[in-house]
Amino acid sequence: MASFPNIRSLLRFFSNDIGIDLGTANTLVYVKGQGVVLCEPSVVAIRKGSNHVLAVGTDAKRMLGRTPGSVVAMRPMRGGVIANFEVTEEMLKYFIRKAHNDRRTMLSPRVVVCVPTGSTQVEKRAVINAAEQAGASEAYLVEEPMAAAIGAGLPVSEPGGNLIVDIGGGTTEVAVISLGGIVNGQSVRIAGDAMDEAIIRFMKEAHDIVIGERTAEDIKVKIGSAYKVGDKETMAVRGRHATSGLPRTVEISSDEVRAAISDPVGAISDAVKMTLEQTPPELAADLVDCGIVIAGGGALLRGLDQLLTKDTGLPCRVADAPLDGVALGAGKILEELDTLRQVLVQ
Ligand code: ADP
Ligand code: MG
Repeated sequence: MASFPNIRSLLRFFSNDIGIDLGTANTLVYVKGQGVVLCEPSVVAIRKGSNHVLAVGTDAKRMLGRTPGSVVAMRPMRGGVIANFEVTEEMLKYFIRKAHNDRRTMLSPRVVVCVPTGSTQVEKRAVINAAEQAGASEAYLVEEPMAAAIGAGLPVSEPGGNLIVDIGGGTTEVAVISLGGIVNGQSVRIAGDAMDEAIIRFMKEAHDIVIGERTAEDIKVKIGSAYKVGDKETMAVRGRHATSGLPRTVEISSDEVRAAISDPVGAISDAVKMTLEQTPPELAADLVDCGIVIAGGGALLRGLDQLLTKDTGLPCRVADAPLDGVALGAGKILEELDTLRQVLVQ
């Protein structure tokens, strides 16, 4: 006689389980069976002096640096951890509902949320609460580098060592993973934002021009690099002349930008070296062959792979789809919850 799935697994089949990469710069939502359905900046606009949310995500990011006095656009995860609980909760709820409401189902989803390895118990609890309040039937946490490694297709459950470096906006997470767990690693609060801040300082000091965060990020993405790759490039940058206070355009080169961001880039390389020094010898030996995999938006900085190879002597490659890796990893955990349950935060 044919065997029928029980009611529970049937319901499970129709429910849209959700995986969330709650990043300091971007939040991505993966819906089981559908892939990444939402990717928006982790930005919330609130009325000043309250936690009254006016806009979330893309709409709120447009307001960054341009808000009238009564509105503040903020990044509640900015420092790499949850800097503002209530606003982070609101943001998480908004994204879960947005991703879930589009589907025609009344069933409560199971939710897997990725959190930075440095998160405290209180922060973890806040994330679980927010997911439950947004309608999750069960909420699980997974550490970001673990999800990034799974998303990058690394064999995390096997005994060999894997070294993953996830460079986001607020944090860089370095982890050596083996047998489904993080063996050792570092979480440093130096990543993409720190590079943008270094570019702002450089523009002020070297060119007497004041620029905002978005312009700084633009410069980094367009002509930034960690290592000399390709020909020298230039870019016209607009800002406010600090002395005269008037709008002004100056031309800057890729060599200047590389020098400007060398401190934060060096700190990322140091975190990788420090992790290697603390890695048990057997696993360190495995890394000689499989090398380093870099993920997160910061992995797109040109020449970062070459720099890490020069600094560590290990091969290094950029993960496929570095910006989506953590969300894809969370998705894979949902799809294979039975075999991957061991990677969840207990
Ligand atoms: P998080 O996980 O913290 O939300 P992401 O993985 O989404 O962060 O990466 C965001 C960071 O990646 C930002 O600092 C952004 O400026 C940076 N970034 C995105 N694209 C590039 C690029 N092409 N070159 C350098 N940095 C980039
Ligand atoms: Mg991330």
